[in-house]
Amino acid sequence: MNLVIFGPPGAGKGTQSKFIAEKFKMFQLSTGEFLRKEITKNTEIGKKISSVINTGALVSDKIVSDLIEKIISDKKYQNRIIFDGYPRNLIQAKNLDILLKKYNQKIDIVLKLTVSLETIKKRISERRNLEKRPDDNETVAIKRYETYEKSTEPVIEYYKNLNLLKVIDGEKSINQINKEISDIISPI
Ligand code: AMP
Repeated sequence: MNLVIFGPPGAGKGTQSKFIAEKFKMFQLSTGEFLRKEITKNTEIGKKISSVINTGALVSDKIVSDLIEKIISDKKYQNRIIFDGYPRNLIQAKNLDILLKKYNQKIDIVLKLTVSLETIKKRISERRNLEKRPDDNETVAIKRYETYEKSTEPVIEYYKNLNLLKVIDGEKSINQINKEISDIISPI
């Protein structure tokens, strides 16, 4: 099974992806985490990535595509990938279809966590103190939310039309969401 998880910044997709990865022995492919790791290496590409992430915009499709192909093509992750943060726009969604087909795989389920903008602001300000992410200040978080609405919401519509989408109320407690996700994934 391959799974895609969507949600605006602060929706809890990272937390839930980690839970799914552990419980169902899957691999969490968080493009955001990969990009943040690249930044810490202080390479030229890392500096470029950092300047984009810190505005709340999306990093170039090519950079992220190369990164995900490395994982999709690796046999040890075959049919057990959680796409956490990819695709973020329709070009990436089409690219993902092509890559998965190339390596004889497909998407089995798409989850979307919904949360209000008010909750997002509250969670991001809490996370800012814990994780110290430079893109977690309020101005950038609002820009990330706008990017999500503009570029990523149309992708969710794309999966809805393919009958792959399950919507989950991300306002509930972490444990309740864990349970709802387990109930959806277990039969697949
Ligand atoms: P995340 O950890 O998923 O919230 O991602 C943090 C930031 O990394 C985003 O705001 C983007 O700037 C960048 N990013 C993550 N995934 C992608 C992607 N698939 N395409 C482009 N940029 C991305």
